[in-house]
Amino acid sequence: MSSGRDYYEVLGVDKDADAKTIKRAFLKLARKLHPDVNKEPGAEEKFKEVNEAYSVLSDERKRANYDRYGTAEGPGGFGSDYVDMSDIFGGGFGIDDIFDSFFGGSRGGSRPARTRGRDMGITLQLTLAEAAAGCKKTVSYERLAPCDDCNGTGIAEGGHETTCTRCNGTGRVTEYQRTIFGQMKSTGVCPECGGSGKVIDKPCETCDGQGRAPSRETVEVDIPAGVHSGQSLSVKGKGEAGVRGDVAGDLIVRIEIKQDELFERQGDDLFCKVELDYLEAIVGKRVRVEGILADEEVVVNVPAGCEYGQQVRVEGKGMPRLGSSARGSLYAVVEVIAPKGLDASQLASIGALVEARGGSTDGDAPRKPRFHAHGRKAKGAAK
Ligand SMILES: [Zn+2]
Ligand SMILES: [Zn+2]
Repeated sequence: MSSGRDYYEVLGVDKDADAKTIKRAFLKLARKLHPDVNKEPGAEEKFKEVNEAYSVLSDERKRANYDRYGTAEGPGGFGSDYVDMSDIFGGGFGIDDIFDSFFGGSRGGSRPARTRGRDMGITLQLTLAEAAAGCKKTVSYERLAPCDDCNGTGIAEGGHETTCTRCNGTGRVTEYQRTIFGQMKSTGVCPECGGSGKVIDKPCETCDGQGRAPSRETVEVDIPAGVHSGQSLSVKGKGEAGVRGDVAGDLIVRIEIKQDELFERQGDDLFCKVELDYLEAIVGKRVRVEGILADEEVVVNVPAGCEYGQQVRVEGKGMPRLGSSARGSLYAVVEVIAPKGLDASQLASIGALVEARGGSTDGDAPRKPRFHAHGRKAKGAAK
């Protein structure tokens, strides 16, 4: 897909150019190189190159990837099942729209009517546990599906498809247009057959000869273990059906993972809290916590002398890494709480321990006051 040339160079902009500058540079080049206008050899190639550069640099995420990794897809990409969602979910401004906006309706004739089905996007919510284990999810949505009554052909019973007489089956007609670039001869799509070169004498009434009709679709989506929020996967051919049996679009399923009550995810690592009282923190403790996978128990070995907020790592107990059998780490974040309900003899033995270590429970020898020693400077003091 990549032309190999530097995208910034192609558009003639600086590496730190802002979105406006990039768009302006693109429009200027596109106007100059558009195949409807520029018949010079090589112009079309350049035009494609400019389009490619713009499609990457105009998309914040792709541009960031390109800057960092040299490709719009980022490190290693995601495999063919994953496609970019920006056009579907971002409400992006496609290149086609830009052309329509400056070539106006007059250009309408030069591009064949769209007969391929469009991709469709839906968002699927998962729990963190579902994302960890991988799962199958059934999604239900409305789409233009192949028409049942004509099997997607658009032809009613007894009807036929014949060659369009206006364009002799070529799907294109030549016309002369007055445009901002002067009079141009342009070959456009045949208005009679929409570019297919074929007409139907008796169109299917259900779908008006389109070969597709609205339908409620139910699809089972296979979610791989380790998927991240914001990632998407596509179900081939389950987007909008094409006109009269043309290629269908894909269903793009974007994953959204709900906040979990126990675990916080960072990449493939998980964080959870474990509570210990002071005494346990002093001697250390094996803490058993629930893992992210079903029926999983994780043993966290909190070392002796553990401090508040310390993170104890358990390797291989985090989220599964997508497309691999490895797993990230689980970090148990230690919260130390005061032990409650100690009786007099327990307090006495702890007191004895304090004294045995050279401390005192009955006031230390005089020492220089520190800000927290007698509460004097404590007010408003920061550490
Ligand atoms: Zn039909
Ligand atoms: Zn025609």
